[in-house]
Amino acid sequence: MKATVAVIGGGPAGSTLGALIKRYAPKTDVLILERESFPRDHVGESQLPNVCAVLAEMGVWDKIERAGFPIKIGATYRWGRTDDLWDFEFYPAHRFVDEPRPAKYEGQRTQTAFQVDRAIYDKILLDHAKELGCRVLEQTKVAAIERDGDRVCGLTLESGERVEAKFYVDASGNSGILRRAMEVEVDEPTSLRNVAFWEYWRNAEWAVTVGKGATKVQVMSLGYGWLWFIPLGPDRTSVGLVCPAEYAKRAASVLRTSTAKPSPAIRASAR
Ligand SMILES: Cc1cc2nc3c(=O)[nH]c(=O)nc-3n(C[C@H](O)[C@H](O)[C@H](O)COP(=O)(O)OP(=O)(O)OC[C@H]3O[C@@H](n4cnc5c(N)ncnc54)[C@H](O)[C@@H]3O)c2cc1C
Repeated sequence: MKATVAVIGGGPAGSTLGALIKRYAPKTDVLILERESFPRDHVGESQLPNVCAVLAEMGVWDKIERAGFPIKIGATYRWGRTDDLWDFEFYPAHRFVDEPRPAKYEGQRTQTAFQVDRAIYDKILLDHAKELGCRVLEQTKVAAIERDGDRVCGLTLESGERVEAKFYVDASGNSGILRRAMEVEVDEPTSLRNVAFWEYWRNAEWAVTVGKGATKVQVMSLGYGWLWFIPLGPDRTSVGLVCPAEYAKRAASVLRTSTAKPSPAIRASAR
């Protein structure tokens, strides 16, 4: 299989790149290779307003807005030694006006963000890239990178098929498949070696209501890490704990010795 640009990964990075190439150079042959079948679950739901500028530029804002994801205007923190709450707002909550949705990317909405269910959001983006003319192959895992020194010569798919392209893009997220194959080292400060555990709660109560059609993320520090609380809909909330990997290892060994079983429903990820 041949392409001008071969993109490994159909998450937001891969689909955004594909859509932007098609927007500015529509004749470019872009091939996106994605190992999963969308919709697929993914963590990382709370966005910043600048993402919306990119959504508008790639022509997908209206589709995302039609999906009705909660509008985000900022965050509330309980951080440090006191229980005081402090806020930051991309757009002042007292000036935010409830407008009918779907709305256009204009006025106050250029300064807000979304809280997104990634299964739905990532699928809209990938379908959009396809609609703009990218060739998208799902359930297509890149199994190996062929290299000659510091040049990539091709990709081998799990099926055994070969892909050759002029440009190769690593949009494989945490897998970093090209980076690893090219032996590019990452300097990770010990203080950032964290892990996260998260789950989705129904009708959770710990929420500061903005009072209108906008939401805030809530973040709370603990002695050993911090919690996130992201409203994803009227009754669905993403709740997660981030803590140092070392702390989680020690806590797990305490749990094991006390024969407590960690819930299999909790998802874990190196962050
Ligand atoms: C615990 C945690 C919490 C986070 N919270 C937030 C948040 O609140 N807000 C925020 O903005 N960001 C958050 N992030 C970060 C966010 O998840 C990522 O920045 C975002 O998903 C990156 O998008 P991406 O397209 O680069 O990678 P991904 O979304 O991971 O997409 C990569 C894609 O590549 C595919 N792939 C991987 N390997 C291969 C292969 N060999 N062949 C073919 N396909 C392959 C995968 O299936 C996947 O679909 C969080 C991350 C973590 C770990």
